[in-house]
Amino acid sequence: MDNYELQEFDFNGKKVAFRISVCPVVNCNCGDMSLKFDVPGLPPLIIDLNIFSREVAAETDDSLIEDEKIEVIRQQFLDSMGDKQWEMLYMCYIDLKHRQAADARLEEHCYIFNFNEIENRGELTTYCDVFPFDVPMQVDVAGETLTVIDYHCLNPSCGCHDSAVEFVNLRDSQPDEEPQSYGIFMLDYQNHTWDFMPGEGEALPGAIPMPVLRNLVESQNPDFYRELAKHHKKLKDLYQIRRMQLKTGKQKPGKKRRR
Ligand SMILES: [Zn+2]
Ligand SMILES: [Zn+2]
Repeated sequence: MDNYELQEFDFNGKKVAFRISVCPVVNCNCGDMSLKFDVPGLPPLIIDLNIFSREVAAETDDSLIEDEKIEVIRQQFLDSMGDKQWEMLYMCYIDLKHRQAADARLEEHCYIFNFNEIENRGELTTYCDVFPFDVPMQVDVAGETLTVIDYHCLNPSCGCHDSAVEFVNLRDSQPDEEPQSYGIFMLDYQNHTWDFMPGEGEALPGAIPMPVLRNLVESQNPDFYRELAKHHKKLKDLYQIRRMQLKTGKQKPGKKRRR
């Protein structure tokens, strides 16, 4: 599990160094994290909490003699946590999850692909759904920051280099509402061609013309097409690993495969 030293954390009027770790499952965004710190006269204290609910898990081990003291410190900890501290802890969580995902081997990324839809119905797979802790590409448009969301074809029998690319304002959207889309286009990342999505009109509400968006995203992201190619390859590689696991899981050992 990744560890992280966070210095200068205000706790009970003192600066305390916490050792922080997050849920060990790569790609899991459950929000579980654990804080370890030293209190003089006590064994190292561990506080398990959830960063989304801001709740501290109850002590399950009641065999500790110091139980009461620990409970007091746990309560002191909770009392010392203001919005600023929770925000800081959240940034820490995200940073650790990013590092964990970046360090993980490809096959460690948990994701269940929809094989049937992908291979029989041409369903595209969203990169950030599979790799949620990768830093997405962004583009600044007239004072707004739009996130680039890319969708890829993972059909093993298709050799296309097409990606659907959508520009979405995630930053200003409320958690309970659908973020505003500024357009979705079909791109060929090898030939650098842009097209409208079949069935989508030329403009969406609040949309920016395609050539304008294209210019902005290309100038602000010099590796834009290479990134899309990298995303497509990474997705295809993981897809192949899962596909193989599916096959070998079904096949009985020692038996010849019938055609
Ligand atoms: Zn988790
Ligand atoms: Zn394809």
